[in-house]
Amino acid sequence: MHEAPGATLDNVMPRRKPNPRNSSARSQRDPRPIGDVFGRTEDGPGGAETFVVRTIPGSRAVKTYRCPGCDHEIAPGTAHIVAWAVDGGEDDRRHWHTGCWRGRHTRTITRRWS
Ligand SMILES: [Zn+2]
Repeated sequence: MHEAPGATLDNVMPRRKPNPRNSSARSQRDPRPIGDVFGRTEDGPGGAETFVVRTIPGSRAVKTYRCPGCDHEIAPGTAHIVAWAVDGGEDDRRHWHTGCWRGRHTRTITRRWS
């Protein structure tokens, strides 16, 4: 009836290692900067405009942003989406929670584009 003390300590989940893919060697000197800026495009929150969409990894998210989808802050270190209208240019980019961007068609925008 005795349980071995500390037995559960061996069940601690091992930390998953980050993706070992080393892309810096290949992309660092990519002579096509435009290909990096325009990663992919999706239809925007209104469905009428095309938005350029980029994924910001947590390690690159060093500031606090406000998500236009839910009007809540995106904390530093949170992987998220940055998107802007193709016609509007990158100066009008907005930072979204990844989930809010995916659900942008099913919820109203709390804040109009300026
Ligand atoms: Zn949000």
